[in-house]
Amino acid sequence: MRPPALCPGCGHMTAGAPLSEIDVLVAGGAAAGLCAAIAARRAGATVHLVESAPRALRGGNTRHARNFRIAHDRPAPWVPDAYPADAFLADLRRVTEHATDDPVARRLIDGSADLPDFLIDNGVALQPTSRGVLPYSRRTAFLLGGGKAMINALFATAVQLGVGVSYDTALAGLHVEPGHCTVELRRDGSLTPITARAVVVATGGDQADRTALRRQLGDAADTVVVRGTPHADGSGLRLLLAAGAAAVGTPGLGHLVPVDARGPAVDGGIVTRITGIPYGIVVDQHGRRVADERADLRRTHYAQWGPRIAGCPGGRAALVLDHDGLSRAAPTALPPVTAPTLAGLATALAIDPAGLDATVRDVDATAEARGGRPIRVPPFAGYPLVAGVTFLHHGVAVDAAMRVRLRTGGVADRLLAAGGIMAATVLRRGYLAGLGVTLAAVSGRIAGEEAARVAAR
Ligand SMILES: Cc1cc2nc3c(=O)[nH]c(=O)nc-3n(C[C@H](O)[C@H](O)[C@H](O)COP(=O)(O)OP(=O)(O)OC[C@H]3O[C@@H](n4cnc5c(N)ncnc54)[C@H](O)[C@@H]3O)c2cc1C
Repeated sequence: MRPPALCPGCGHMTAGAPLSEIDVLVAGGAAAGLCAAIAARRAGATVHLVESAPRALRGGNTRHARNFRIAHDRPAPWVPDAYPADAFLADLRRVTEHATDDPVARRLIDGSADLPDFLIDNGVALQPTSRGVLPYSRRTAFLLGGGKAMINALFATAVQLGVGVSYDTALAGLHVEPGHCTVELRRDGSLTPITARAVVVATGGDQADRTALRRQLGDAADTVVVRGTPHADGSGLRLLLAAGAAAVGTPGLGHLVPVDARGPAVDGGIVTRITGIPYGIVVDQHGRRVADERADLRRTHYAQWGPRIAGCPGGRAALVLDHDGLSRAAPTALPPVTAPTLAGLATALAIDPAGLDATVRDVDATAEARGGRPIRVPPFAGYPLVAGVTFLHHGVAVDAAMRVRLRTGGVADRLLAAGGIMAATVLRRGYLAGLGVTLAAVSGRIAGEEAARVAAR
């Protein structure tokens, strides 16, 4: 394999094969695209990967991830106990309320079993459980250094293998023709057409596109912040749909979590997520309590709070804690708003003071009569909350080889989709911790292998 050449100006890289002679074009430089590119290259194809973000922002949402879910029958250095594939599938069916494509889900779950080996073989480091630094999880393995380290390792391996990489370059046109695909790549405002024997579209979701957000979430979209990359603009999804791909998903549903309203509008990652809800009360701008904060304390409880907050007047709410509650909550990136009195806190958080006072009296009376956590000990603290969107539950349908399903029936055998863009095939509602990276990496690997196979035909 020929070593890649690095363009001195911009860090835009090219591999030995000229772009006009490429077997497999991969769009999207994150978990799905990188696993696809590496798998296709290892299967013997010439591969070029285009990433619309600049080099420093490569890696999409995957940069923010920490762990991934894997089926396993025995303990491994990165996961204790066992989590059989059947248990994984049962969990997926439960959270999706059976809104999943079973054969595709089974293929991805089976593929999760050797995902750790695939990642390690391609330079990714996992956290060993023996160091005792993890939250206990038999279902998920943790990435050493997080998603950013994973992305850096996979890019290094891809380039080492001879995959060409272009940053600041977006897939902007897509035509499937007999025997090949024609794509257009946009860089610095100009379009370059190229042909490839197979194309893997791994450009993530469209949650950073305000029009798509509004179509899915209605008025709530105006206040929702985007937790991940601003480059998830849905351009790849629109191209696939225009090429005849079958849409799949549940309109109006997305994965939303509570985040600090003072955080950035995009790319805040997990840093601005607010997890202290069980230790206080969540109220809307009128001071009315939104729901019972301690009704469901499972670890994924925060995903129930995003939609509740998005549904509040103005799409805003606030977490109110007293001194005791604050001492139990995890430290946050931005310090809480504090005040010696509830009325002072209400004013600082733009909440109706009388409404908050009435709610807190009620909470304290209930705590006295039936147990529970009163809001009583000053100083009081609060966080302004909005919902942050991780992804939306829609995309394109694929078969078990990650070939794009067509609206007219059948599949496009040279057109593959991997990662967030096809996740709704198996996840039309709900979520399981660690599923995003697993779906992306396993579907990417399958798509890359399939693309290399069809390109060689
Ligand atoms: C804050 C946060 C935390 C998360 N934590 C976890 C976790 O701990 N575990 C887990 O499993 N999942 C987690 N997820 C979800 C997980 O990150 C995603 O499901 C997964 O990374 C999706 O990978 P992907 O490769 O499909 O897409 P992405 O990572 O979103 O990447 C898509 C890439 O495509 C590029 N792109 C977009 N359009 C184009 C175009 N037209 N041409 C070329 N390139 C394009 C983008 O720049 C981007 O780099 C988290 C998500 C967020 C936002």
